[in-house]
Amino acid sequence: MSHSDTGPVVVTGGSRGIGAATVLALTRAGRPVAFSYASNDRAAQDLTARVSAEGGRALAIRGDVTDMAAIEDLFKGCEREFGRPTGVFANAGITGPAGRFETLPPETLRRVLDVNITGAGMTVQAATRAMSTAHGGSGGAIVMMSSRAAALGGGNEWIQYAASKGAINSMTVGFAKELGGDGIRVNAVAPGLIDTEIHAAAGLADRLQTKAKDVPLGRIGTADEVAEAVKWLLSDAASYVSGAILDISAGR
Ligand code: NAP
Repeated sequence: MSHSDTGPVVVTGGSRGIGAATVLALTRAGRPVAFSYASNDRAAQDLTARVSAEGGRALAIRGDVTDMAAIEDLFKGCEREFGRPTGVFANAGITGPAGRFETLPPETLRRVLDVNITGAGMTVQAATRAMSTAHGGSGGAIVMMSSRAAALGGGNEWIQYAASKGAINSMTVGFAKELGGDGIRVNAVAPGLIDTEIHAAAGLADRLQTKAKDVPLGRIGTADEVAEAVKWLLSDAASYVSGAILDISAGR
């Protein structure tokens, strides 16, 4: 690969959960990170303060991933502060409230698909413009955020969410084929049960504890355990890996 392991990275939804763990893993590895978030200014400020205290560099930019102008602001912010990115993590995602599909309001269905599919797709469009050798970039790597839900289906919980992650899997394979000639590798991570606030936000505060017994390794995972895989996929150590969807689910 022509790009170096120390190049800047753009992360969407980087202020909390898996995104935040990845921001920390990358900045600890010496890579500056520009990340977006939706609305929680406090969490974003706390994370940038933590990165600075550790001697790393991170830039937080508030912006919804369904807004192309906001995505462009995020990439411009990266370029202005740290230079052209060589890595992008399209991570931002939501589940919508848990429940049976028949009760899901159409506007919630549209919103979940918009954030998870359109948002990730527009992030890849911006990433292509920033990194493609066809646009004077040096190439790079993209990691998409899938989920084990894509294969499990989300029945009785969040079929809309599972379906959106199925779309991410298809896009990952397609993008890997389309962007290989632009010097860009594209992969996805598909986490299982990971300890973040996303479950409680869907109204399932004890979901992780209830389901831990179904995991072959017998426990839920941490955001750091996903972040390590994302860091690797974004690094030159994964230089021949593209089009892969990596389960991080302890066998679930
Ligand atoms: P989380 O703890 O709820 O964090 C979500 C992050 O995304 C926050 O930084 C949030 O910003 C941001 N965000 C939400 N909607 C956004 C939007 N429209 N535009 C920009 N940023 C937005 O979630 P998480 O569990 O870390 O999940 C991150 C990704 O991993 C998601 O795509 C999720 O589907 C996937 N995933 C999670 C699990 C799991 O078990 N946790 C498993 C498989 C896949 P604010 O702080 O401003 O809200």
